[in-house]
Amino acid sequence: MTIISDPSGDMHTLWINLIEAARSIKINENTKKLKIALFDLTGCAGCQLQLAESKLMHFNHLIEICHFRMLSSFDYDDYDYDVALVEGCITHQDEVERLKQIRQHAKILVAFGTCACYGGISTQKNRSDMTQTIREVYNSMPIESQSARKISDVVKVEHNISGCPVVKEELERVILSLVIGSQVIFPNYSVCVECRKQLNTCLGKLGKVCLGPLTRAGCNAVCPTGQSVCLGCHGPAEKHNMSAFLDRMKRNGVNYSRVQEKLAFYNAFVPVVSNEA
Ligand code: SF4
Ligand code: SF4
Repeated sequence: MTIISDPSGDMHTLWINLIEAARSIKINENTKKLKIALFDLTGCAGCQLQLAESKLMHFNHLIEICHFRMLSSFDYDDYDYDVALVEGCITHQDEVERLKQIRQHAKILVAFGTCACYGGISTQKNRSDMTQTIREVYNSMPIESQSARKISDVVKVEHNISGCPVVKEELERVILSLVIGSQVIFPNYSVCVECRKQLNTCLGKLGKVCLGPLTRAGCNAVCPTGQSVCLGCHGPAEKHNMSAFLDRMKRNGVNYSRVQEKLAFYNAFVPVVSNEA
């Protein structure tokens, strides 16, 4: 069986091949299961739900989910695991300590979802006055809330599965690659490639600020297909051209603050914005 190793290749075929490869593994008493633990920091638990509903649940002869609060109350915090999936961003000091502890127990640490990979939607609070924001939301209740950060600001991360929420097929690809010892591959092309395959009318050509040209593919262009612009939840595509994108927005007469607002939505492009604005 051919396992695609080219990030410009067809990811769906790769997914099918990985599923078949995992199914063909012969199990015996020496087979070691891949121990996976899932932890959540600040987020909405949407990525956890993707795991709960994924096909990985059919591979329990190869995978052991040993910590997953959504499915089990059993506490395995002190357990060693092969893969730790960490969902959510950091907004509290106790999350920093917990994350460091998770790192100590994990052979491979995966930032799971846009919040973990880039800070995500919670970083919008970073752009307003924190004291005032806390007062508006919690009134006089004493609350500790730090500026939202991605998890790689605190610990080493081996893989990023971005997405708000993560795409099940991508999650399955990554975990099954680790199960069979294959290279973890993400597409290096942009959402526009998938969008054109869907024969969508380009929202950019209609004057909208769609981040598809900048954003890593993997979601099958779900937002533009539903007539909503891409807000870049998968983060930057390997081969994106920010200068060309900004030039095009300028030529289209789009106000730069509108572009900046979209680029900052998930915090995935902020360093690029500050370099190229
Ligand atoms: S709608 Fe967005 S994602 Fe689709 S082709 Fe146009 S710019 Fe690219
Ligand atoms: S189209 Fe863009 S914002 Fe929508 S899911 Fe895909 S990467 Fe995320």
